[in-house]
Amino acid sequence: MATKSQNDIIASIKERLRQSEYWTQKTKEKGTSIFPLVCPECGSREAWAYANKPWAINCNRLNECGARTKTLSLFPEIIQNIEKENPPCKEDPNRPATAYLQSRGLSESLKGVHYEYWKNIRGTGKGRCSPCLN
Ligand SMILES: [Zn+2]
Repeated sequence: MATKSQNDIIASIKERLRQSEYWTQKTKEKGTSIFPLVCPECGSREAWAYANKPWAINCNRLNECGARTKTLSLFPEIIQNIEKENPPCKEDPNRPATAYLQSRGLSESLKGVHYEYWKNIRGTGKGRCSPCLN
């Protein structure tokens, strides 16, 4: 179950990457890597990403740039969609947080760690405008 949602996020990142300006006409997914990609930092077409873990675009111009750009920071809508696609449910009220942490590759470190869905931070339940209840 956990693995499935992470795979969904990886699929979303790849799909989004494919549609982005970082994916060139020459870009191919070959073996374990996606190459060449455009480096978001320096614009060189010498960057790459892991095909099965596309969490970052890694620049190959190590001396000049060497940037490691997080794909989720390039496509913040993917994180927003995680919450929409993984709404909290009875079985797992922390589901959006779980999915998000897994998306950050933190699923292993989740074992035995106490965390809570962040809905409380948003002040759910207070400040809600509901005139019909008055
Ligand atoms: Zn670069």
